[in-house]
Amino acid sequence: MSYVRWGENSYAYIYPSRQGIVCAGCLLDGDEEEAGEFITTSRAEMIEHVEQHRKAGHKVPVKVDERLRREIAEFGDNPLEDDE
Ligand SMILES: [Zn+2]
Repeated sequence: MSYVRWGENSYAYIYPSRQGIVCAGCLLDGDEEEAGEFITTSRAEMIEHVEQHRKAGHKVPVKVDERLRREIAEFGDNPLEDDE
């Protein structure tokens, strides 16, 4: 289940994958020609990444940070080490 999808209140699409947590079509990473993609295996790093989006003026709902923090408390920082 994605953390957040594109929408009126979100300039980011963030979801978990087998490689880590993905910020798809990332507006911070990439250029006008081609959108980038940011992938990390650290939930804390994704929280920082979301902060970078906000600093750039991109809206990202707080529920993303809230879920990431909850998951860090419950499972740890690395999503690839979660018990299935
Ligand atoms: Zn991004």
